[in-house]
Amino acid sequence: MIFCEKCGNLMIAEKKKGKMKYICRKCGHTSRGKKVVSTSISEKVEEKEEKIPVISEKDVLEEFPKTKIICPKCENNEAYWFMQQTRSGDEPPTRFYCCSKCEHKWREY
Ligand SMILES: [Zn+2]
Ligand SMILES: [Zn+2]
Repeated sequence: MIFCEKCGNLMIAEKKKGKMKYICRKCGHTSRGKKVVSTSISEKVEEKEEKIPVISEKDVLEEFPKTKIICPKCENNEAYWFMQQTRSGDEPPTRFYCCSKCEHKWREY
């Protein structure tokens, strides 16, 4: 529960464009809640039925799920994974891995 910074009254949550907003019913003070979706990737993913993360240049790897897989380069046993659409759009997206240690990227065959 969130209380108003100004009057201490209980604030009500309202969801707008995927973001939570809190409004005080007493004084009308609004406060932005914790972001429900943090990046544009999550918004894109929401539209699809499957929850598959898709990476782009600006995305932060830390937001992707990790899996236990051996890095072919440094033999670290953990990597982030994500799906990426190949340039020809009619092929299914390929799963890529990115080593959590050396950031080596490779694709699943
Ligand atoms: Zn208030
Ligand atoms: Zn590695």
